[in-house]
Amino acid sequence: MNRNNSGTLLDKSIDETKQGDVFFQEQLAKKESNKHFYIESYGCQMNFSDSEIVASILGEMGYAATKDMHQSDLILINTCSIREKAEDTVRKRLRVFDKVKEQKPGTLVGVLGCMAERLKTKLLEQERLVDLVIGPDAYRSLPQLVADASGGEKGVNVLLSREETYADINPVRLNSNGVTAFISIMRGCNNMCSFCIVPFTRGRERSREPFSIVAEATELFNKGYREVTLLGQNVDSYLWENPETKETVNFAQLLDLTAKIHPDLRVRFSTSHPKDITDEVLHTMASRENICNYIHLPVQSGNSRVLDLMNRTYDRDWYMERVESIYRIIPDCAISSDMIAGFCTETEEEHQDTLSMMEFAKYSMSYMFFYSERPGTLAARKYEDDIPLDIKKRRLNEIIRLQNQISFKHNQNDIGKTFRVLIEGDSKKSDQDFKGRNSQNKMIIFPKSEGLKTGMYCNVKVTDATSATLKGTLVV
Ligand code: SF4
Repeated sequence: MNRNNSGTLLDKSIDETKQGDVFFQEQLAKKESNKHFYIESYGCQMNFSDSEIVASILGEMGYAATKDMHQSDLILINTCSIREKAEDTVRKRLRVFDKVKEQKPGTLVGVLGCMAERLKTKLLEQERLVDLVIGPDAYRSLPQLVADASGGEKGVNVLLSREETYADINPVRLNSNGVTAFISIMRGCNNMCSFCIVPFTRGRERSREPFSIVAEATELFNKGYREVTLLGQNVDSYLWENPETKETVNFAQLLDLTAKIHPDLRVRFSTSHPKDITDEVLHTMASRENICNYIHLPVQSGNSRVLDLMNRTYDRDWYMERVESIYRIIPDCAISSDMIAGFCTETEEEHQDTLSMMEFAKYSMSYMFFYSERPGTLAARKYEDDIPLDIKKRRLNEIIRLQNQISFKHNQNDIGKTFRVLIEGDSKKSDQDFKGRNSQNKMIIFPKSEGLKTGMYCNVKVTDATSATLKGTLVV
């Protein structure tokens, strides 16, 4: 996983709050708490989930959440380091927080996540007004570090752990629509893709104890949630071993355990790795109606020589065989992907291999970027970032253009089909319409109807489609 969801917690919350942001309503009601924290999150879903762990720890410390950074005593930013642009965004936000701090001395500012882990104490030298630098495995030290910082001492903890999974901490659902939630099942990554900073900022892989995952999903279901997404950098290498009995639980078994909670609880997962995804997982998906028929399977490049330079540990043929197996075992499965354009020494022909891979795999959607060299990665140490920016951009535009064509065709093929949809709330464009997704993770917009509300399932017949969205009518 190195997908970068460009969006702040705040942007999303304003939109989704209108649809009953359970957590913030509760927090706003917590008038008695005289300490408030404000948090923004950037990057992948793991970071958004970590912010929910942080919110839980701060809640235990008596902090209530606020959406108004001027009202807060503690301003936190959970950062991404996957591309240079992600870190530039963080620095711009720190300028905004500086002003708040000048107006309200004593306000603490903390940097969390992958940028904190990558830069460590250097961040304090570069950003004088930052009081806290805390890495993804050190959030339990928040109480001590906040106390130190309140006393004027800078608080830093960037120790990576081989055990930490925060399994005993009940995340506080930030920005929740009360219907869908993410559950992190593991942390870290043992792969060493040469372009990726994640193994350095999130450490070695460790799988969370499965029963705490099933307990969390069950609690969510009992609270009215109807969909959980199991999260990990590489969920296919999930493997938990019982320290006493040495019994193990692999990803397919965890998927099945979660799906057994209730047939009305949808189960999704992200992110898969082509090297590790097994037929056992695919057959488990095919055997359970409530495990959604959608797989995010990053390819990064369609060329074997480039994949080798990326240290992805599979080649073009292996990936194509995995795609064929997915469509053979789950014919109506939707696959999405990640692509990097213009990796070191990539030739025009090798770029064409990525385009032809996209046509072969028929992705429903993808995350697409041009290569951004990250300090400290294998690629930065071994290869020259030699593809000129204009060629990187041209290749990326070709990938995006092709993906839009494939997505449009993929969605057009759905016209006339009826899907079971989980209502997630009002459409952004009109509160006369609902929005919800089908099993293939496609958003469908359809007119509201008496008796239906957020969190319910209904059947929708697709009547129209763009490359991004399906439109439909209710089938009663
Ligand atoms: S090292 Fe590879 S598998 Fe691991 S997070 Fe990075 S891109 Fe994903």
